[in-house]
Amino acid sequence: MPTNISGLNDAEVLLARKKHGQNKLNYKKENGFIDAIKSILKEPMVLLLLIASIIYFISGETGDAIFLAAAILLVSFISLYQDARSRNALEKLKNFTEPNAKVIRNGEMLEIKSEELVIGDSLVIEEGIAIAADGVIVRSNDFSVNESILTGESLSVFKDKTSIDNSVYLGSTVASGLAIVTVTHIGNETKLGKIGTSLEGIQDEKTPLEVQISDFVKKMVIAGAIVFLIVWAINFFKTYDLLDSLLKALTLAMSILPEEIPVAFTTFMALGAWRLMKLGIVVKQMKTVETLGSATVICTDKTGTLTENRMSLAKLYLLDANNISDTAKANKENELALIRIGMFASEPIPFDPMEVALHQVYEQKSKIDERPDFKMIHEYPLGGKPPMMTHLFANKKGERIIAAKGAPEAIIQVSNLDETEKKQIQLAIITLAKDGYRVLGVGRSNFEGDDFPKKQQEYDFQFLGLLAFYDPPKDNIPKVLEDFATAGIDVKIITGDNAETTAAIAKQIKFKGYEKSISGDELMTLNEADLKACVMNTNVFTRMFPEAKLKIINALKANNQVVAMTGDGVNDGPALKAAHIGIAMGKKGTEIAKQAASLILLEDDLSKMVDAIAMGRKIYTNLKKAIQYVISIHIPIILTVFIPLALGWVFPNIFSPVHIIFLELIMGPTCSIIYENEPMERNTMQKKPRALSSTFFNSKELGTSVIQGLAITLGALLTYQYAVKQGYSEAETRTMTFVVLIVANIFLTLGNRSFYYSILTTLKYKNRMVLWMIALTLFIMALLLFVKPLTTFFEFESLSINQLFLASLMGFLSVIWYEVVKWRKRRES
Ligand code: ADP
Ligand code: MG
Repeated sequence: MPTNISGLNDAEVLLARKKHGQNKLNYKKENGFIDAIKSILKEPMVLLLLIASIIYFISGETGDAIFLAAAILLVSFISLYQDARSRNALEKLKNFTEPNAKVIRNGEMLEIKSEELVIGDSLVIEEGIAIAADGVIVRSNDFSVNESILTGESLSVFKDKTSIDNSVYLGSTVASGLAIVTVTHIGNETKLGKIGTSLEGIQDEKTPLEVQISDFVKKMVIAGAIVFLIVWAINFFKTYDLLDSLLKALTLAMSILPEEIPVAFTTFMALGAWRLMKLGIVVKQMKTVETLGSATVICTDKTGTLTENRMSLAKLYLLDANNISDTAKANKENELALIRIGMFASEPIPFDPMEVALHQVYEQKSKIDERPDFKMIHEYPLGGKPPMMTHLFANKKGERIIAAKGAPEAIIQVSNLDETEKKQIQLAIITLAKDGYRVLGVGRSNFEGDDFPKKQQEYDFQFLGLLAFYDPPKDNIPKVLEDFATAGIDVKIITGDNAETTAAIAKQIKFKGYEKSISGDELMTLNEADLKACVMNTNVFTRMFPEAKLKIINALKANNQVVAMTGDGVNDGPALKAAHIGIAMGKKGTEIAKQAASLILLEDDLSKMVDAIAMGRKIYTNLKKAIQYVISIHIPIILTVFIPLALGWVFPNIFSPVHIIFLELIMGPTCSIIYENEPMERNTMQKKPRALSSTFFNSKELGTSVIQGLAITLGALLTYQYAVKQGYSEAETRTMTFVVLIVANIFLTLGNRSFYYSILTTLKYKNRMVLWMIALTLFIMALLLFVKPLTTFFEFESLSINQLFLASLMGFLSVIWYEVVKWRKRRES
C-alpha cells in the first residue's frame, strides 16, 4: 500500500511518552521483594523456627536461640534466592513473548516493542496481528477485525476510515487486510484497559500437578499439627514444663513439614521453562512444561514444518497446449501469460513464498514490467473450500486484469470446461502432484462495471493452466520422525494441500502410513464413532480447513490422547487452543497463532519438539525423584524423633530443633538443586509417554519411597540401640545416630538418581552439583564432629574410628540394599 504517511519523529515520540507514559496495562503494583518477604513469613517452617527460637531465648538458652535465628535467615535467603531465580527465568520468557508492533516513524517503517508505542504513532496492522493499542483508521485495504474480546461477537467486522466506528481497539485481532491507524489511547486508557480485563490473569490457573502437590502438602501440615498437639500434651502432662514440652513438639512438627516439595515444584518448572528457552523453545505457561512429557501424538502441518517453505516455480501446465513444460525454458507467449496472470493473482507486495517466486519469475521473463501501470481496484482474499483468491487490476486506459489462482479444484469449479478438458487437467494435476509439487490453478476473467460480485466464485473464469512449485522436504525430518517413533509418539500430517502432493512428500520423508489419507470434506461426514476410529488409524489428513482440524483434535482427545499440534495461520487459533500443546512457529507464524499457542518454536524447527518432549519428560522424572527423595529421607527423621520419645527410650530427646533444621538445610537444596540439574536418563526417549491421567505417584512408587525411608529408620534406630547396649553416653548415641542419617542421606541422593540404572552408572552422570553438595555435607559434618565448640553446641561427642565406621556402615547399608532391587529390574527387562 503506497503511503505518504511519515509518522512521528523521534522528538515527538519522546514528548508523547513523557506526557502519556508507556503502553502498558498495570493492574497490580508489583513489589517483588516485599511480596517475597511476606510469603516467607507465611511459610510454616519459618514460623516454627521463629517460635522455637523465641522459646530458647525465653528459657535463657541464647546460643540455640541465635542458631535458630540464623537458620531462619538462611532458610529465607535460600527461599528468596530460589524465588528470584524462578522469577528471573519467567521474566526473560515474558520478554520473548512480548509482541512487537510495526509503526511508521521518521518516514520509515520499523518494528518496536508494543510497550514503546505512543499516542500519535502511525501503527501498521495487518492480517494475523493482535492490535497493541487503540487508534483510528487513516487508511485501509480490505480490512476487517475480530473484536470478540471486547464485544463477544465472534464474526469479524469490516472497517475503514468512513465507518461509523472507525476505531480499532487493543486486544482485537486483524482478520483480513491491512490498515494504518493513528494511536489514540494506550495502556490503561484503552477500551480494554478500562474494562480491566487482564489477559494475563487467565494464566494463573493451577496445574493438575500443582493441585496434587498442594493437596499432599496440606495433608502433611494437618498431620504435623495433630502430632504436634498430641506430643505436646503427652510431654506436658509428664513434666508440666510448658516450654520444654513445646520445644519437643515443635521439633517433631518441623521434621514432618515437607516444605521442600512446593519449592522444588516451582523451581523445576520455572528453570525448566528457562532451559527450554535456551534451546529456542518458548513456553508460555508452566502447565506446558508439565504436559510436554506426556504428549502422545503430534499433528503437524506440511508446508514450512516438514518442508522448507522455499517455493520455486518448477513446472507449468498449459491447458491450450495440454502440455507440461519446465519453467526455466519457458518463453512461449502462452507460458508467459500464465506466469503473468499468476503473478497478478498474488499480493502486490508478496509475502507468501509461492507468490514471491511468481514475482521473481515474472521479473526475469517479461520484457516490460506492467506492475507500475496497474493498480489494484478490488480483491478477494484466499477463501472458499478449497481455497482460491482473486485480484482485479486496472490501468489508466481502463484496461482490466482479473486474475485468480488457488487450489486447482477451486479454479476448475469456477471455469467453463468440457469433460475432456477436465480429464486432461486432472491428469496433469496427478502427474505433477505425484512428484511432490504443490500445484495451483490459474484463471482469468472479464468484468465491466463497478458493482463487483460479493463472492469471487461468481465470476466466470477461463482456465489457463497449472503452476507447479517445488518445496523440498527439510533434511532433518526423517530423523525427527524416527525419534518420535522411538519415543512412542504418533505423528499425523494435517495439511491444506491435496492428497497426491502430500503423499509424495510423505513418502520422501519416510512417513509411516503415507498411503492412506482422508480429506476434510470426507472427515466432516463421519459419525462420532467412525471419526474416533478414523483419527487413530489415519495419519494423513488433506484439504483440511479450520473446523475439520478442530474435529481431529477433539476426536484425538476423546481417545485419551495428549495432543500437540503445530499451526501458523489466523484460522489455526481454535485448534491451537484446543490442543493440549499448541505449537506456533516463531518465524512464519502469525501473531494470532503465537497468542493461541502454548509453545513457540523460535527457529521453526520441528526437531526442537523432540528436545522439548525429552526435556518435559526429564523435568517430570527429576521432580519425581526429588520428591521421592524428600519422602524417603523425611521418614527416618520423623521416626527417630518420635519413637524414642513415644516409647520412652533411655534418651528420649535424641534430636532437638537445631539438629532437625540442620538436616533440613541439607535436604532442601539437595532436592531442588541436585535433582533439577540431573541429566536425562539414557532410556528417557525410548519409553512410551506416560498417561496424563495417572497421578503423580502410583502406589508402587510411593511404596518404594516409604520402604526406603523405613530401612533408613531401622538403620538409625538399630545404631541407637547398639550404642545404648554398649553403654555409650547420650552424646555419643546422638552423634552416631546423626552420622547414620547423614551418610544414608548421601547414598540416598546418589542411589535415587535412577530407579533403574545402578549407582555406578549414575555416578557417571554429569552433574557437578552432586559432588559439591556431598563435599559440603561431609565438610560440615567433620566440623561438627571435630571442632570442639561446635561439637558441644550440638551436644555431640567426637567419635572413635570404630564408632564412626560403624555408623557410616549402617547408613550405607540402610540405603544400598535397593541396588539389588534395581539390578533385578534390569535383568528382567
Ligand atoms: P499447507 O497445509 O500446505 O500449509 P495451506 O492451508 O497453506 O496448506 O494451503 C491450502 C491450499 O490453499 C493450498 O494447497 C493451495 O491450493 C491454496 N493456497 C494456499 N496459499 C495460496 C495462495 N497464496 N494463493 C492461492 N492459493 C493458495
Ligand atoms: Mg500453510
